[in-house]
Amino acid sequence: MRTIGHFIDGQETTGQSSDFQDVFNPATGEPQARVALAAHADLEVAVASAVAAQPRWAATNPQRRARVFFKYVELINRDIDALAELLSREHGKTIEDSKGDILRGLEVAEFVAGAPHLLKGEFNEGAGPGIDMYSMRQPVGIGAGITPFNFPAMIPLWMLSPAIAAGNAFILKPSERDPSVPVKLAELAIEAGLPKGILNVVQGGKETVDAILAHEAIGAISFVGSTPIARYVYATAAANGKRVQAFGGAKNHMIVMPDADMGKAADALMGAGYGSAGERCMAISVAVPVGDKTADLLIEALKPRIEKLKVGPATDKASEMGPVVTKAAKDRILSLIDKGVAQGAELAVDGRGFALQGYENGFFVGPTLFDRVTPEMDIYKEEIFGPVLCVARAHTYEDALELPMNNPYGNGVAIFTRDGDTARDFASRINIGMVGINVPVPVPLAYHSFGGWKASAFGDLNQHGTDSIKFWTRTKTVTSRWPSGIKEGAEFQMPTMA
Ligand code: NAD
Repeated sequence: MRTIGHFIDGQETTGQSSDFQDVFNPATGEPQARVALAAHADLEVAVASAVAAQPRWAATNPQRRARVFFKYVELINRDIDALAELLSREHGKTIEDSKGDILRGLEVAEFVAGAPHLLKGEFNEGAGPGIDMYSMRQPVGIGAGITPFNFPAMIPLWMLSPAIAAGNAFILKPSERDPSVPVKLAELAIEAGLPKGILNVVQGGKETVDAILAHEAIGAISFVGSTPIARYVYATAAANGKRVQAFGGAKNHMIVMPDADMGKAADALMGAGYGSAGERCMAISVAVPVGDKTADLLIEALKPRIEKLKVGPATDKASEMGPVVTKAAKDRILSLIDKGVAQGAELAVDGRGFALQGYENGFFVGPTLFDRVTPEMDIYKEEIFGPVLCVARAHTYEDALELPMNNPYGNGVAIFTRDGDTARDFASRINIGMVGINVPVPVPLAYHSFGGWKASAFGDLNQHGTDSIKFWTRTKTVTSRWPSGIKEGAEFQMPTMA
């Protein structure tokens, strides 16, 4: 079986550990490779390589660093088909969706090609008598990123691009469930001209994460994953004196007002609820129609769309939704559906019995729709992270607003309406980080920043946008006064040292 190694000091290596974990093909349910899990010694080698390379990289002018990203973007575009195929094979999402995963990461690499502009400091002339004051942004040194399985290209690129463009060396610890694409991204960075040691990939699980959180040489840590681990990473890294941003799980609602175009709202919910088998932190998992008539129309519009949804492996171009990532994920989702039924939700479309000829062992769950879901039910309280859409009916706009407002998570939210005043009120009052108005998955573009509120994010700076440059750099402020200079005028005699 193929072994997926680390990428350290410019090359792939299986490292020094004898620990490995199977990497599955979610469509067939078969193990297809094994990934090396780093020993402490592997992290030490990666850190030593980063420490050796970083000062020179930081001293390279930002324009030259940016040129590496111009080339990097070109190379990722060149290889996008192969990368997407590899990504789908380990994650399970459709090829087109994998391309989206890569492209939304690539956009951040494009953004940081503007590094010279992004890294400009501030200057005040004459802040006091004869005094100038200026600030500059300097790299933290060695940064690390710990990433989830659901976007194995996008999220690593969100982190490594600004970190490296700002002059840091970066250590990436990808998800052990789909570890191949991150290694390819590191190989391409070297091909683009990045010096070895500036981007290292260290594979592993909890033990590797703990070693990163404790490592003295690592100054800043970016994490994306589930809320309990985000909380743990945030607390542990902060206690160890590190700068840390940690993004967690989500439960995203979409309010559907009576004046919304029901066909468009249903189409939006199909993509936002079932795209990537619901394994997106910005997936809509709760639809909140306002009024029973709206709810009935919405369910009526959703049902035939769900029944037509083509579920299959990524190798079938006609597939619109693939399997979930592991057998454990599938079992958990099925047991949550059982709980939903037991706790009194109305199962409008049941995806539990889904089977596909030739893929009987694949981790497929059919698209599922619940109606009359209430906040006490487990299917409402838990992040299902699967193709299960819940409809929670609300009587009024104010009732609808209460649901996301009172939810512990605060990643994304959307409203579908034709009324500008309602939309404006919603955007202003909602306590959630990313808001869509007639846009179901409002993931901001690279030059804005991405981040949730409440239990969806710990720390104060977001991913990408100018926030990311702030996160990966430290501010140094200089107050300078020069003694009076030689302003007496020209001297015509031969200079002497007397
Ligand atoms: P996860 O929390 O299981 O894993 C994330 C990372 O943490 C992985 O690299 C994993 O190896 C590591 N990890 C796992 N258990 C650990 C432990 N006990 N101690 C230390 N490290 C550990 O998340 P996942 O299942 O890979 O990803 C799905 C989750 O990520 C969902 O909750 C989703 O909402 C969330 N997510 C959030 C965002 C966001 O921006 N807010 C984006 C994508 C995904």
